Amino acid sequence: MRIWLGILLALCLAAGARAKDMSTLYSDEELVNWGIVFPGAIRKVHTTVIEPALVGDERFVVGKITLLFPLRGRNKDLFEFYAEKDAVVLPIQSLKFLHDMIYAYRWLHRGGYDLGTTFEYVNLLKYRSAASFPGKRYPRPFVALQIPHDNLGAPLPDPNLGDGFNSDFRSALYFILVHEIAHIALGHTFQPPAASSDAAIRNELKADVFALDMMERVKVDPAGMAVFFTFMAQWTPTIADFPSTAAYQRYLKDYSSHPLPGLRVKYISAYMHNSPHKYLGGRANTAENIAKVQETVGIFFRLGEQIDDPVLQRKMKEIGQKATLASIRPRPATAR
Ligand SMILES: [Zn+2]
Repeated sequence: MRIWLGILLALCLAAGARAKDMSTLYSDEELVNWGIVFPGAIRKVHTTVIEPALVGDERFVVGKITLLFPLRGRNKDLFEFYAEKDAVVLPIQSLKFLHDMIYAYRWLHRGGYDLGTTFEYVNLLKYRSAASFPGKRYPRPFVALQIPHDNLGAPLPDPNLGDGFNSDFRSALYFILVHEIAHIALGHTFQPPAASSDAAIRNELKADVFALDMMERVKVDPAGMAVFFTFMAQWTPTIADFPSTAAYQRYLKDYSSHPLPGLRVKYISAYMHNSPHKYLGGRANTAENIAKVQETVGIFFRLGEQIDDPVLQRKMKEIGQKATLASIRPRPATAR
């Protein structure tokens, strides 16, 4: 499988500078409908899977957490998940977009199509304005990528899809949920804003490690997170979005809650590499399964390597600026 590797970045993403209002992507009506679907399932995971897996002080702190599901986040952005005081905020728009992108990725993969169109689509959203599309609104993922769906925006049943979508979506959701719970459990949301970008980076890495450990406790394979990270990579501001290296560096410094994505993904990779037996996702501790974990470690490492590649970042910007609905239609994987 060809994976266009990208960036892992802050899960409390999009809060702050350079957020983009994406509220034309889905209508309120669509989000209200999906607001019936997602919260129930996630609350159930929280109470029946996550809470019972807590130990010691975690149980005390996490027991008080509230899950909030506004239609959109405070910035109306994509990939906008965050924690505030004792609440984890999971906007329906962000959940729906994540759902659609992972589904599209798996559907195209199953059909032998080029997965690159999914990343080109995210860059289209990033670099094009809504006004340049019919109805002055961004095309939804299933429309743009031509994934069969009904009028409620649900994918049509596909018996050949396999478990890839469920596995990837579950992996991403668990990681997002537990990463945000970690910020609360570790006290980050009750502290003043980090005094330096270094301190903020340390908090993010701690939350990542907490999330990884929790995923092992509840036997969820972290491998599927790679797809999620790769999409977020496309959305994150890169050096290609700034007039100079100095301006980019200033942005990184001021935007202190967001560690350099490359650093973060490599940290996760190294952490898993050092203790592969801890990330088996419920599989038996055999040499074969350890090798699978190390395969995931390798994918994360290569993600980290590519994240900071300015050549690739500039190329994706160029593609995003030129992309049209015609250019991101499904195409055979061998077409490029
Ligand atoms: Zn975070």
